[in-house]
Amino acid sequence: MDRISRRDSLKAGLAAIAATATVGVSREANAQPAAKALFTVEQTFIPIANSTQQFPVRRIYCIGRNYAAHAREMGSDPTREPPFFFQKPTDAIQYVAPGQVVDHPYPSLTKNYHYEVELVAALKSGGKDISIERALDHVYGYALGLDMTRRDLQRMLGDQKKPWEIGKSFDRSAPIGPIYPVSAIGSFSKETISLAVNGVIKQRATLDQMIWSVAEQISKLSEANELFAGDIIYSGTPENVGPVVKGDVILCKLDRLPDLSIKIT
Ligand code: MN
Repeated sequence: MDRISRRDSLKAGLAAIAATATVGVSREANAQPAAKALFTVEQTFIPIANSTQQFPVRRIYCIGRNYAAHAREMGSDPTREPPFFFQKPTDAIQYVAPGQVVDHPYPSLTKNYHYEVELVAALKSGGKDISIERALDHVYGYALGLDMTRRDLQRMLGDQKKPWEIGKSFDRSAPIGPIYPVSAIGSFSKETISLAVNGVIKQRATLDQMIWSVAEQISKLSEANELFAGDIIYSGTPENVGPVVKGDVILCKLDRLPDLSIKIT
């Protein structure tokens, strides 16, 4: 190779490096938020009571075994266990308008479909390592909800030491009523929560029977994950969970909130 062609070759090499660098920069630019989404993923919302606004749902957290008698019926010792949490996908939300009995399809894969009535807290802000004292400052409002469960799958998978994900996290497994802002209704402390099937009371407790209060749940959860506005927390169910079959009507009540009712179809 003579000197000139060597110089040309060097130039070509530098140009190639420059071109690569340019591509690198433009790729990085493409990764910025200005890039267009390939498709739209639908945001899940829960209506806010007496408002034209709705609450966008970011994550659905649920606490397990949070009433002593329910912990015992599930085979654990309520005095010893720290709280544990799981999640449902946001599209598990099934909105149930007050005053209506909404059809709720019996899900696939189960022969033992259970109800769990629960108070739900909806967050307007979040953070990490939130103190118990400040935890309720992050609550926007409350709703009445159901943590519907494929109990046979939850138990079988648990017994096999496999994730019991599909026992809890599936389509329409989180029926919920409208969210009532704290600014309108205040907080909850020892109200009565109950559930009836076909007019027969099955679950009934007061909220002060929770092992971990809503404030403690928020604080504990924020140690594991940073919490954000849009997160909602199912705060656990009292004892006497049980099965429903097609045709059954579930009626949930919580003092100061309207009833929530679904029909299994
Ligand atoms: Mn539950």
